[in-house]
Amino acid sequence: MKKISLLGATGSIGLQTIDILEQHADQFQLVAFSSGRNMEATRNILRKLTPQLVSVMTADDAHALQQEFPNVAFTYGNDGLVEVATHPETTVLVNAVLGSVGLASTLAAIRMGKTIAIANKETLVTAGHLVMSEAKKYNAPILPVDSEHSALFQSMNGENIKRIERLILTASGGSFRDKTRAELEGVTVKDALNHPNWSMGAKITIDSATMMNKGLEVIEAHVLFDMPYDNIDVLLHRESIIHSMVEYSDTSVMAQLGSPDMRVPIQYALSYPDRLPIANAQRLNLAQIGQLHFKEVDFDRYRALKLAYDAGRAGGTVLTAMNAANEAAVALFLDEKITFLQIEECIERVMDAHNNILLPDLETILAVDSETRKIVQSMVK
Ligand code: NDP
Ligand code: MG
Repeated sequence: MKKISLLGATGSIGLQTIDILEQHADQFQLVAFSSGRNMEATRNILRKLTPQLVSVMTADDAHALQQEFPNVAFTYGNDGLVEVATHPETTVLVNAVLGSVGLASTLAAIRMGKTIAIANKETLVTAGHLVMSEAKKYNAPILPVDSEHSALFQSMNGENIKRIERLILTASGGSFRDKTRAELEGVTVKDALNHPNWSMGAKITIDSATMMNKGLEVIEAHVLFDMPYDNIDVLLHRESIIHSMVEYSDTSVMAQLGSPDMRVPIQYALSYPDRLPIANAQRLNLAQIGQLHFKEVDFDRYRALKLAYDAGRAGGTVLTAMNAANEAAVALFLDEKITFLQIEECIERVMDAHNNILLPDLETILAVDSETRKIVQSMVK
């Protein structure tokens, strides 16, 4: 029985993780979870599963839930995230929280040697060098949940990783893939939230439309697999059937394919190295799909992807600044305070003005993160 802590249980990845845990209740036990403000979804989980500890965002919500569920312990806030992540009985932490807020709890769980199944890519982008060096020091395995990285990981099974030449990340192109740059001027939040292939949380759906999501994933791949940026490519592939590929020195290319369903990579991170069935998962029928399409990515069209490569190659706190600027700008766009194209404008301005510090410690990273959010807010005013 694997004992699981889940951060971000009420989100898109979180709820799909709950589905997997329910399907394989004989293998996985939910020990603790966190949610944010969605109390309806929190209650729904508590009616189905009986964890020992739950963390929410506010003290008021924690007190209210305590009355209703007297057999569960409740806590709240950022300390609560750490408590959930480091629960003494937990062996596997699934981190599906949104944004760099997941960093402290990830590091705390790593220092206890727990296995980390990580969806929370912002943590790897903002502090990849810290996360990976601590993981090595404390012998904490880091398993990818992001579909591209799971595909890369699966395509490395049993291989000599020294023979890897290239990682090829596939990209659907997001909601605006058929629009030119000029056509992006007047797009709305509603248009941007309409992703062609995947149903995901709002922030990552916007990131997919700007292609910053692929930029974060390029950095995530560099961090997880220690691959130089020159050897990480992005390939447009509109069907999202090939989830990513690894090219080896003998020119062989290994890939992982499947219908777009995040439960597959979530479950693989939990069952690894085993595989388990998934109820209601759609089998891949290539004959029915008929054709797969591929196209080179245009860095002028997808400027955010170019910015992410630049930040990755530079390394240091500019990664934190880029990520925090993106988080803040996407929130402003979702709030209809800035336009779609202003998202990348904010990021670019923050990066241009940033005084980069290489190999930053945690304190420096947290300071740059909060300072950057203030800078983006002041740009809007
Ligand atoms: P959602 O917005 O759907 O869910 C985010 C979760 O985090 C919710 O449980 C939310 O709580 C909680 N949360 C948000 N802010 C805070 C905070 N400040 N403190 C505590 N909890 C908070 O996001 P997704 O599930 O889409 O994404 C989660 C992560 O996984 C992201 O890093 C994303 O990039 C990554 N990812 C997502 C994929 C997807 O298919 N969705 C695919 C690959 C990666 P509540 O809702 O209760 O307020
Ligand atoms: Mg992905």
